[in-house]
Amino acid sequence: MKVLVIGGMHGNETLGIRLVASLIDNPINGIDAIIANPNAVRAGVRYIETDLNRSFGVQNPVSDEEKRACELDSIVDEYDIVLDFHNTQTPTNNCCFVGVDCLPVLYDQAKQLGFDVVIEATYDCINKHHTNTLSIEISVDDAWDSVSYWRRRLERLGDGASIGKSIQLYRFDSRVTWQQFEQNRFRDWRPFVELNNNDTAVLGGSGRLAPIFIGSKFTPYYATLIRYIKQV
Ligand SMILES: [Zn+2]
Repeated sequence: MKVLVIGGMHGNETLGIRLVASLIDNPINGIDAIIANPNAVRAGVRYIETDLNRSFGVQNPVSDEEKRACELDSIVDEYDIVLDFHNTQTPTNNCCFVGVDCLPVLYDQAKQLGFDVVIEATYDCINKHHTNTLSIEISVDDAWDSVSYWRRRLERLGDGASIGKSIQLYRFDSRVTWQQFEQNRFRDWRPFVELNNNDTAVLGGSGRLAPIFIGSKFTPYYATLIRYIKQV
């Protein structure tokens, strides 16, 4: 199995950047590693011109990130599995993202890597355009925000351990702006805990909605809403 680890899709989310540096210094057999957005990493910012993870699928690339997304398109296709590392400032928010039609092996990998939640991304991002790519979101200061932790995980990748467990599958629903948050005085939101009926109605939503990335300064909105689908 050929595996690619991506860090620095967002240049200010350091886990993947540190992990790629470690894998380049001290490689693990069968695992390649690249920095997705080196210019943003050097500047220590999320992106330079356009958010790289919103720059996939653009017909006529103009920004540096849109051109870089085209380069990554052909690199990513050379691998069986791609693990794309991100950070969030929201505590207890560890989860994975996949595309709607992702390879089923990604669910097994998510289980094996110890995750409880997988979210289908429906907006333009690396997961939507690459069925082999699992994006990994780790809360900063979590025990999993650690290069040595992920090196140990990567060394055991594919050994089939813990595949018997199940995970909660959600789908991206919408984003909540800071203005909506302040106007409606939403309170006590916690990652993956379903909104009450009142908050769901205020937002004009329906179904089992839960918030993630609550108040994280890494994202330009107050929270992301996800909708529960099923256990897989
Ligand atoms: Zn990110």
